[in-house]
Amino acid sequence: MEPEPSSQEISKKAAKKEAAKAKKAAAKKDSAATVSNITIDVPDPLAENYGDIPIEELQSKTIADRVWTTVGTLTDELEGKNVLIRGRAQAIRAVGKKMAFFTVRERIDTVQCVLTVAEGLVSPQMLKFAAGISKESFVDIEGLVSVPPSPIKGASQQVEIQVRKIYVVNRASNLLPMNVEDAARSDVEIEKASEAGEQLVRVNQDTRLNNRVLDLRTPANQGIFRLESQVLTFFQQFLLNEKFVQICTPKLTAGTSEGGAAVFRLDYKKQPACLAQSPQLHKQMAICGDFGRVYVIGPVFRAEDSYTHRHLCEFTGLDVEMEIKQHYSEVMDIVDRLFVEMFDKLNERCQKELEAIGKQYPFTPLKYLRNTLRLTFEEGVQMLKDAGVEVDPLGDLNTESERTLGKLVLEKYGTEFYILHRYPLAVRPFYTMPCPDNEAYSNSFDVFIRGEEIISGAQRVHLPELLESRATECGIDVKTISTYIDSFRYGAPLHGGFGVGLERVVMLFCALDNIRKTSLFPRDPRRLEP
Ligand code: ATP
Repeated sequence: MEPEPSSQEISKKAAKKEAAKAKKAAAKKDSAATVSNITIDVPDPLAENYGDIPIEELQSKTIADRVWTTVGTLTDELEGKNVLIRGRAQAIRAVGKKMAFFTVRERIDTVQCVLTVAEGLVSPQMLKFAAGISKESFVDIEGLVSVPPSPIKGASQQVEIQVRKIYVVNRASNLLPMNVEDAARSDVEIEKASEAGEQLVRVNQDTRLNNRVLDLRTPANQGIFRLESQVLTFFQQFLLNEKFVQICTPKLTAGTSEGGAAVFRLDYKKQPACLAQSPQLHKQMAICGDFGRVYVIGPVFRAEDSYTHRHLCEFTGLDVEMEIKQHYSEVMDIVDRLFVEMFDKLNERCQKELEAIGKQYPFTPLKYLRNTLRLTFEEGVQMLKDAGVEVDPLGDLNTESERTLGKLVLEKYGTEFYILHRYPLAVRPFYTMPCPDNEAYSNSFDVFIRGEEIISGAQRVHLPELLESRATECGIDVKTISTYIDSFRYGAPLHGGFGVGLERVVMLFCALDNIRKTSLFPRDPRRLEP
């Protein structure tokens, strides 16, 4: 949980922020004033080259017949070429009465556009029009690509556009609840500026989440959710290649639940029901239905009461279930190959996204081995013991001991991604298969990135009598899961599987400090909007 600042701190900070804002506003007023002071009393021969596009032009009046260039493809190879771009007005800075710099952003990429008053090219009226465009408005810009002699600091593209035409497609309100540029700043940048005596605005998490649509426009967020999309893609590609079948399981479920996590209860046409806390029972039933290997991607609901950095009330579950021939290591083999391949691909193909994320939230690339390290729970407990950390050998590891073990594993084995298996049976769900040699342990595993859990998996009990007794031992009324238990009475295959939390994978791959950063519109105990 992020520490909450005290009210005194808030008021001090607010006062500083106000002072900085006032200073900035005054500076802006000065520069805007120079442009708005331009007296224009003659008709402009260039009037056709700028303006607000009338609404009828925006109602699909013509089929696209113009050639558009994306901001990200603007390089020096296009020097001297005329281009047409569409993007958001990120920053507008007038310099005296003759010039204005205009930063246009399209997704992660930005380009500096320049308006210089010159006869027949840019009129003072056009400059005035451009300087009056509100931030975040959509604009169409046509102009000539040029390469400036020195590097451009405030934009990703190292070319400029000498503006010849500028049109507003859609104006953003003048009163934005937060500034995208402020939201895109790293803490390091803010601290450096502060040391140099400049107070930059720091946008807190609630402000970001309350205004998520603006927040999502930052390069880091563009990177995070594009990376997340790639995780989903690679996950599916890998499993489809391994002959898994994608299935869809119900999110409305009867009865109470499979136990463990708290559930959201609801009234289903006067029957008690709940939102699925995982697709566990149905993916196993699909295995009993002879699909052999299945996966599910979908929302998972947990009525979490705790407000932590890694729990949400709704997250995206990536769930896998498969027949096994002999041993739950067959499931761990899939985890191993799937994730090593995924990490390789993310590093290889998502450099731009990773760079954008790292710029705002610096992190070191994940360290992982070609063959994922597998330690038994007992070995893990021993490592902790050797380091002076006492834990219950038949209990679960708490967050702190998981983190410590992560550090110890990194020191000893040089990896931040590993599997811990043979967990104590008592801390696993009722459907987990006990170990053959010692009933205190189970054929189960958790997988960790940077000392935090991303996956839980196991061999499942396929014997209905054992399932019934295990459910009863775990305090579950077997009547509420009778259809599930019955599925195993008609001859069930040996099987196992695992569940992954998508948001946790991305959060930990990028060493982000809070799962809300990797959930598009997070749901937590205090947040149900936007
Ligand atoms: P934890 O011990 O961290 O609470 P869990 O043991 O309850 O997790 P499982 O029920 O085994 O987790 O779920 C499988 C995976 O789903 C977890 O490894 C994690 O990646 C993800 N996950 C579980 N609960 C949450 C949650 N509340 N918010 C986000 N992701 C979650």
